[in-house]
Amino acid sequence: MSDSTPKKIIPRHIEPRKFVNHAVFLSGQILGDGLTRLTEASIEVGHIDVELEFGFDEERRRTVTGWVQADLLVECQRCLEPMPYSVKTDIHWAIVWDEEKARQLPSRLEPWIAGEDAEDLYAMIEEELLLALPTAPSHSELCIDSALLSSGEVAIEDEEETTNNPFQALAALKGKETKH
Ligand SMILES: [Zn+2]
Repeated sequence: MSDSTPKKIIPRHIEPRKFVNHAVFLSGQILGDGLTRLTEASIEVGHIDVELEFGFDEERRRTVTGWVQADLLVECQRCLEPMPYSVKTDIHWAIVWDEEKARQLPSRLEPWIAGEDAEDLYAMIEEELLLALPTAPSHSELCIDSALLSSGEVAIEDEEETTNNPFQALAALKGKETKH
């Protein structure tokens, strides 16, 4: 197997209960253009790689475990420039019949409410990616000119970031103090 081998596209609609009974293992890519909410939350949706294993856990629950990894282009909330952002998250789902059964699951399992029919696998994966995305992504390096940082305008933005990055806010505060 070489890297140039095109990855298999995972189908959007699958019958999860049938997949569990057959202990299906899925490995491949899903198509980002079908994910409306993720497309809206980013500038560009690149490759999305998925690996999923369908089966039973030790308590005979129908489970889907694996991971999803997406390469996105998002807007840095500090400098507003496009920024590549890679998000990876583990998947631990349990297939249940209804809300009632969903509530009985341990917190480590996310419910996938599904009957015998085909279900939208992409919608489930999209939900996981949206949950894993930071609300205000920004470059890890300093991406705004230091001259701009000392102006009052940008300082206000820094205050807004306190909840997302306390260390950066602290550094900004310290910077202000030393200038006096
Ligand atoms: Zn930036």
